[in-house]
Amino acid sequence: MIDVCSQESSPLLSVDEALARIKAAVQPLGDSENLLLTAALGRVLATPVNAPINIPHDRNAAMDGYAFAGRDCVEGQVFTLKLIGTSWAGRPFQGQMQPGQCVRIFTGAVVPEQADSVIMQEQVQVLGQSVRFPADTLTQKNIRQVGEDVKQGDCLIAPPKKLTAVDLGLLASAGVTQVTVLRPVKIAYFSTGDELTAVGKSLEPGKIYDSNRVMLSALLADPGYNIVDFGIIADDKQLLQESLLEAAQHYDVIITTGGASVGEADYVQEILHNCGEVDFWKIAIKPGKPLAFGTIGGCYFFGLPGNPVAVVVTFQQIVLPALRQLSGIAPTKPLTLTATCACSLKKSPGRQEYQRGILSQDEYGEFFVVSAGRQGSNILSSMSQSNCYIVLPTTCNGVRAGDSVTVQPFCLLIE
Ligand code: AMP
Ligand code: MG
Repeated sequence: MIDVCSQESSPLLSVDEALARIKAAVQPLGDSENLLLTAALGRVLATPVNAPINIPHDRNAAMDGYAFAGRDCVEGQVFTLKLIGTSWAGRPFQGQMQPGQCVRIFTGAVVPEQADSVIMQEQVQVLGQSVRFPADTLTQKNIRQVGEDVKQGDCLIAPPKKLTAVDLGLLASAGVTQVTVLRPVKIAYFSTGDELTAVGKSLEPGKIYDSNRVMLSALLADPGYNIVDFGIIADDKQLLQESLLEAAQHYDVIITTGGASVGEADYVQEILHNCGEVDFWKIAIKPGKPLAFGTIGGCYFFGLPGNPVAVVVTFQQIVLPALRQLSGIAPTKPLTLTATCACSLKKSPGRQEYQRGILSQDEYGEFFVVSAGRQGSNILSSMSQSNCYIVLPTTCNGVRAGDSVTVQPFCLLIE
């Protein structure tokens, strides 16, 4: 078996170097398609959307009250105007307001042309058709002006942008019904290993359940990705090579787990050397050192480790930025916080570690973190109980209780 990089002397790539290489290597997809707005959530906008109308479209009331003209206001004195009608939301007042008159108005209703002010209903006294305005009445208030949110012709949303619920709301408010978005990234994923059994089947001696594939399908659940599950491939070089070559013809990305190391039954590196190009395959990250990145023809390939915690860590830290770049959006660094570590943590220098932690905030807003428990790359239970990574830099050789550490809350990791 070819073992090109296993010499301990070969330097490990830092996480930042690996990300820089990915940034340089991954070309965003160019193809786009038109979609109805209602189908566009989570898709990446490909062309700018300009506002076909002003928002607001009409001058309208910001609250329930009475519309009047400022010129009728007698500064510093109580004054009375004659009530001549109502402007409802969706049913504007049809008449003309003359000097000395006012109109009952509701939030969102069109303000009569002759009015330039709205007073809150609680501030006036109404007696029949007569409305008494207080001495401290302010003019030019409580009216939403035409185009104050967005002007007709202005850019509503610029590409590239992964469309959120709010973006769809903004587009809908301008009457936009269709958008042009980049096509989804086509991703094939599979697990490798003779020991693997699909969930739902009975477990024979020596076998384990394939948790990675279930996790990957959930991690890849995103409207921007079209994913296909290739199942479990045995540790059979020929079979693995055929599966990879077949998938490479139809997909933009292949993600495998397991077999990426340099054991007797680990064929991923060798196949990639034979059939494609390896970019890097050993990163100074823990968990997750053996990680292959390369291309097979025009398809990007990620060979993740087999241990489930290493799969999640390498997926989030290395693969996700690449997928984002491929899908047209800039890979962003995860947001981090500084927290006081309330326990000691073991760590040897050499690799950047993503230990699983439990982050909390005290009544003064200070962040504290503790270890989520056992840190083995096979221990999914502590990962399930954790809510953040404690990111320990390569040179760190342990943390004492009370030290400051950098944490990545899981809730801020993806977007
Ligand atoms: P490998 O990288 O193939 O040497 O696998 C490393 C460890 O991860 C071994 O203990 C495997 O049994 C385990 N492993 C590999 N693939 C999976 C999987 N799909 N689900 C759960 N554990 C796995
Ligand atoms: Mg294996």
